[in-house]
Amino acid sequence: MSDLLHAPKNIYETADDKLRADISTYAEGYKAFIQAARTERECTERAVELAKARGFREYVHGEKAVPGDKIYSVNRGKAITLAVIGSEPLSNGVNIAGAHIDAPRLDLKANPLYEDSELAYFKTHYYGGVKKFQWHTIPLEIRGVIYKADGSKVNVSIGSELSDPRFVISDILPHLGQDQAKKVLADAFPGEALNIIVGTIPEAGKDDKVKEKTKLAVLTLFNEKYGITEEDFISAELEAVPAHDVRDIGFDRSLIGGYGHDDRVCSYAALTAILDIEGTPARTAVCLLADKEEIGSESVTGLQSRAFDRFIGSLARSQGVSLDDCFAESFCLSADVCNAFDPNFPEVSDKRNNAKLNYGVCLMKFTGRGGKSGSSDASAETISTVRGLFAKNNVRWQIGELGKVDQGGGGTLAVYFAQRNIETIDAGVPVLSMHAPYELISKADLHSTYSAMKALYTL
Ligand code: MN
Ligand code: MN
Repeated sequence: MSDLLHAPKNIYETADDKLRADISTYAEGYKAFIQAARTERECTERAVELAKARGFREYVHGEKAVPGDKIYSVNRGKAITLAVIGSEPLSNGVNIAGAHIDAPRLDLKANPLYEDSELAYFKTHYYGGVKKFQWHTIPLEIRGVIYKADGSKVNVSIGSELSDPRFVISDILPHLGQDQAKKVLADAFPGEALNIIVGTIPEAGKDDKVKEKTKLAVLTLFNEKYGITEEDFISAELEAVPAHDVRDIGFDRSLIGGYGHDDRVCSYAALTAILDIEGTPARTAVCLLADKEEIGSESVTGLQSRAFDRFIGSLARSQGVSLDDCFAESFCLSADVCNAFDPNFPEVSDKRNNAKLNYGVCLMKFTGRGGKSGSSDASAETISTVRGLFAKNNVRWQIGELGKVDQGGGGTLAVYFAQRNIETIDAGVPVLSMHAPYELISKADLHSTYSAMKALYTL
């Protein structure tokens, strides 16, 4: 073949036995991570555990940053930034891997519990971009926190143990689905129908003043287990998340099926890459696992908050460097997933410019929609930097864009890094069925993304 032609290859076409073994071993750690951590709070807790086990300690604001320091800072239990202080001063900038640990889900409303026709339900409000029909008739778990009237906190996790019950949203049987079938999808599955069935046995007893006895029975169970009253739901954050097991998919076990690959897959790659740094890097390594990306990076735990600036700013100031000067020299891989080309639905993609499974971490020059609006559109210079970096470190990668022009679009953390004057480009794992309760990714792409994040920390 002519050397003039760009001919990307499937990773498995050239993978030797060692690479195949590495791909498969690395995948097991990731599978365990997303099997257990299904909320942003749980991902943060797990990241702290893993970091502590590797010698990281919690950073005290204002503390001096010394080369070789391994530190982390948790933002309100829902986001975490880790750093390994480099031998070069922060005026030389830092290498940032930024990913997000929130994922689409169903949040319980403030007054979730109600009864209809003697069945008890939780009302939900979906979080992030979901195709609502996908959340009917699948097993759900309920996880999160409740703060009681006295301010004490209760951790809730129901559904992961074999002995636990699970929860489900029903759907119309096909026999009676004629009207539903004629509707457009947006109307056929209204958000207010995402009500989770949580009980059917009415409270036994003679108190006929209580009208909703099934609701009361469920509340009684909750009270026995967690000591809460109905009002305590108001100061709770409870999330209904898919209960599916994380499993190998396909005869060749090349794929992983699970909930929340977007973006825990890049989060895990970035996290393990910073944990695996040996010795003191030249430039300071930073890993941000952010919350609220799925709703626009809003809130104090999203990247639009200045919590990230406070942490890096404190490190920079401790070396007599201004945050602006540090950011201006910094480099960021905005580590988020992209869509994998789906032969079942080829019509939404430009096949020549779409990421493919097993072709490695995908660089996205831009995201956004329409004429690239809402995107940070990385420069040729930025791509050139990454291209050189990946070549030097044998990272298998591909270039892609999210679907056909004018087919839709989406955003990532990239714009918010770029707003801080940090050179940024999106790089992440291609996903099939993104935002579905059960997403698919390739183990080879996961491993390639880990290699990419490791390479970043050598920049
Ligand atoms: Mn994402
Ligand atoms: Mn997403």
